[in-house]
Amino acid sequence: MGITSLGFQVVWASLAQRTDLDVRRLFTDRGDPAHRRCDLFGLSLSWELDGPVLLDLLEQQHIPLWSRERGEEDPIVFGGGPVLTANPEPLAPFFDAVLLGDGERLLPDFVEAVIAHRNAPRAERLRALAQVPGVYVPALYVPRYGSDGRLLSIEPIDTDIPATVAKQTWRGNTLSHSTVITPEAAWPSIHMVEVVRSCPELCRFCLASYLTLPFRTPSLDDGLIPAVEKGLTATRRLGLLGASVTQHPQFDDLLTWLDQDRFDGTRVSVSSVRAATVTPQLARILARRGSKSLTIAIESGSERLREVVNKKLSRDEIFAAARYAKEGGLTGLKLYGMAGLPTEDDEDIEATADLLLALKTATPGLRLSLGVSSFVPKAHTPFQWEPVRPEAEKRLKRLARRLQPKGIALRPESYGWSVIQALLSRSDRRLAAVIMAVRGRHGSQGGWKTAYREVLDQGADDLAPLPPWHETVHRTWDPERVLPWDHLEGPLTKATLVRHRQEAFAQV
Ligand code: SF4
Repeated sequence: MGITSLGFQVVWASLAQRTDLDVRRLFTDRGDPAHRRCDLFGLSLSWELDGPVLLDLLEQQHIPLWSRERGEEDPIVFGGGPVLTANPEPLAPFFDAVLLGDGERLLPDFVEAVIAHRNAPRAERLRALAQVPGVYVPALYVPRYGSDGRLLSIEPIDTDIPATVAKQTWRGNTLSHSTVITPEAAWPSIHMVEVVRSCPELCRFCLASYLTLPFRTPSLDDGLIPAVEKGLTATRRLGLLGASVTQHPQFDDLLTWLDQDRFDGTRVSVSSVRAATVTPQLARILARRGSKSLTIAIESGSERLREVVNKKLSRDEIFAAARYAKEGGLTGLKLYGMAGLPTEDDEDIEATADLLLALKTATPGLRLSLGVSSFVPKAHTPFQWEPVRPEAEKRLKRLARRLQPKGIALRPESYGWSVIQALLSRSDRRLAAVIMAVRGRHGSQGGWKTAYREVLDQGADDLAPLPPWHETVHRTWDPERVLPWDHLEGPLTKATLVRHRQEAFAQV
């Protein structure tokens, strides 16, 4: 990940360019030579299940695991990344600072504050960091619980500390691209260029859209083309990245530019595209540039459910995308869907299977596959109050029964792991004791359940007891409820998220 994640590369490069810092990358298998004395130790967490790895890395570096146990000589442990930014609370007791928002915007101010207060006592340094916009210092905020164990508030320890921390947005128009290109990466020798940041579509479950708003696009001539040209001096493999790359207003022009003969031999791949934006030209140029397949997310074959999630995608558009993919010379179409979405019933799952079978008939010869995950509620989205639905498990099996015998590859994500993800995405900081207890067995779902039970049985030390697992994962939450991330401001207000949720369910 220290090589392949574009976000990580941007952070590393922006720090490494400074002459007043000495920056090293750390990998789980090997790393650059260690520092003699390290002021800062940082991590980026991209998904919920990364969390326990943090503790292993801290231990390897001989850094106390709990923030409260770190002394004057220990580094400030900071983190960022989508999952940590959405809801840092389960991991909050392990971090000294969490950076909420875009690294380009936050890092310079954060580093300046670290340097300015470098010789101050640790407690004073943390207080100074808490004054930097977008920097959340969890130790300076205290949760209060009711007698029933419900979270009542998370408040700063005194009036000098901001009551809320707002996510910071980078509004510059040049976005990021690879700074390391190596055959040793998970995607070997690829030059990645970020074509868009965020997504304007606002599908109701989508963290990639809601947490990163507003939608931003670099210009073609001053941003994307120079970034692509630069990378292609080092490699012939180009990856165009973003939540929804084809929604760049000049994406067609970018494609036409990449269609020039001088790019023969260059391999171009794109991340998932919106089905409604697939054109014959897109498919033809991707096929000419070495792509074999296209990935589109349909979420569900049910028109009704697509409306509930605000997908704005018609059945005709899905069929057209498959037709264009085939006509353009691509040999495969990967579709993504979900099981267990709010309001879903068995008929909706049947509609997904029906749609895939009809697509197979309509586009013979096009290899179809369906990746399906179970819905997991994410903080700062309109579906943050919705539960993981146990029905999802049997619905995944139902899809497999209908599609696999017909030659459509089904790639289901594990329902059991979705449950653990939801636990990490919706819990408050009481879960930290479980994350500590699950070390050494976090690769097994049973390990998580056992660790949770052990912490429940032990009772609380300074916090209220853990809530029952079911309450966090499988219960619909009342919109009035205090959320563990209420003191952290995302791009949209809670009232707007409530309204979007109401709009979703008005479709039912
Ligand atoms: S189109 Fe994709 S990236 Fe955009 S909001 Fe919907 S799911 Fe998210």
